Amino acid sequence: MKIAVLGAGLVGLASAHALADEGHSVVIIDREGPAAGASRGNAGWLAHTDIDPIAHPKMLRQVPKFLTDPLGPLAIRREYILPILPWLARLLIASRPSNLARSIDAIIAIQSLALPAWNQLSTQLGMEKMIHRRGGLFAFETHDAFREALPHFKRQEAAGIRVEYLDAPEVRQMEPAVTNAISGAAFFPDAAHVSDPHLVTMALYEAARARNIDFLQAHVRAIEVGKTVAVRFEGRDPMMVDRAVVAMGAWSKPIAASVGDHVPLDTERGYNISFPGSTRYLNRPVSFQGSGFVATPLDTGLRLGGAVELGGLKLPPNHARTRALYTKAERFIQDLPSFDQGRVWMGFRPSIPDSLPVIGYSQHSRAVVHAFGHGHYGLTQSAATGKIVADLIAGRAPPIDLSRFSPQRF
Ligand SMILES: Cc1cc2nc3c(=O)[nH]c(=O)nc-3n(C[C@H](O)[C@H](O)[C@H](O)COP(=O)(O)OP(=O)(O)OC[C@H]3O[C@@H](n4cnc5c(N)ncnc54)[C@H](O)[C@@H]3O)c2cc1C
Repeated sequence: MKIAVLGAGLVGLASAHALADEGHSVVIIDREGPAAGASRGNAGWLAHTDIDPIAHPKMLRQVPKFLTDPLGPLAIRREYILPILPWLARLLIASRPSNLARSIDAIIAIQSLALPAWNQLSTQLGMEKMIHRRGGLFAFETHDAFREALPHFKRQEAAGIRVEYLDAPEVRQMEPAVTNAISGAAFFPDAAHVSDPHLVTMALYEAARARNIDFLQAHVRAIEVGKTVAVRFEGRDPMMVDRAVVAMGAWSKPIAASVGDHVPLDTERGYNISFPGSTRYLNRPVSFQGSGFVATPLDTGLRLGGAVELGGLKLPPNHARTRALYTKAERFIQDLPSFDQGRVWMGFRPSIPDSLPVIGYSQHSRAVVHAFGHGHYGLTQSAATGKIVADLIAGRAPPIDLSRFSPQRF
């Protein structure tokens, strides 16, 4: 079959490989090129050990504190308060205990596929050296905050995730650059991170080209389903294909709507600063709990990132937020390079209020498969999503129950 994969981020590229594995003729379409979206600059954490939706009460409890700090880890841009209200209402509904429990079960299910799928894809494409298995730390400033988080870690343990608890000297033994401001940490030995998300996305793209997967630079406007599928573009003739996969991250909403699937997709904008060449700081990613940022030792340099800003796709970035994040990091990591030595970036997490991606057939036709909305875990879940997309196109049952991920669940 001829299949168009719309979007050349991690999810689209992983899907293209999984479809090519089945012998399909695949074309990847992107308006800019590979790695133009969130896949380019994310934190690089293969976070399959995380199981919390963003609607988690732990997070929601901190909202008032965060919102009073305009540069805190969570902010809503003034201009975007009205447009985001329906999404926020759904976030509250997603935080009801029964909904939350269902989201957590579904996150655990897809996260359980994540690392095996990455292991297989990276081995198949000779990218093993791009995956680092050194675990990850969740670090706490105060003993009280650490104690408060313990029930949460116990839930992860109950889900089969290995966790070790470290006191301050043990943290510093593992990560000598972490300062005395940290009093303890939870260590996830099975967490992993990538060499650099941009390099990984480009490696997937180059490998795709090497195996004759086509690439077309074009701006997708809509999809129409008739006897075949027409992908409509801005400024060029439509392309007729047998199947289409919508994997355009935070930009997927209008394209899904063009085939009648209305999904509450918005974006959580995230910020970071990277220090090219600064590779001596950490051995593994560290999430600084309560401060809303993660530090990742990429092969290309240290990256400090995080923050959630609800501000849609059009407003310009506010890098005062990145500076605030850097200032916090200075308290926790010794001798950071100066802010001016860093390269700032903002990206658009494609986010659904229940923190589950949309993976499934369009309601009107099995010729269109949606695969977007992976929020904070799109790098982690991309390889697994690609395999599920290939299952759906083949008409096979995927290894997990997809009803919680259905485009029709809203
Ligand atoms: C600051 C930050 C940190 C993060 N950290 C992590 C992490 O540590 N671990 C993790 O697992 N995830 C992380 N994420 C989330 C992860 O980056 C995303 O979930 C993931 O990259 C989404 O991939 P994607 O392929 O769906 O979308 P994208 O990478 O955004 O790709 C979408 C593509 O669609 C293209 N496109 C858009 N509109 C059109 C159009 N009309 N026509 C044609 N093409 C179009 C774009 O050009 C783009 O290339 C982070 C995100 C951010 C912002």
